[in-house]
Amino acid sequence: MNTSTDAATDAAARDETLVCSGCGTTPPPEEQTAARLTWSRGTDAGRTTWSCERCSRENLRSIESKLDPVWW
Ligand SMILES: [Zn+2]
Repeated sequence: MNTSTDAATDAAARDETLVCSGCGTTPPPEEQTAARLTWSRGTDAGRTTWSCERCSRENLRSIESKLDPVWW
């Protein structure tokens, strides 16, 4: 059997547990893979941060309200 090196890299990447930077929630192990697709990934000071679907939606709303040019 030929074990590909990609699998090892993948395993290492998967080892990183997702934690929401907004509310601190962590998806259950069986949802970690799915969460990588549905959660918003960001970068903060060179570190990867994640926001759960709920928080990313909240963030979007707050960004939109900040963009609202009421103070112009
Ligand atoms: Zn969250």
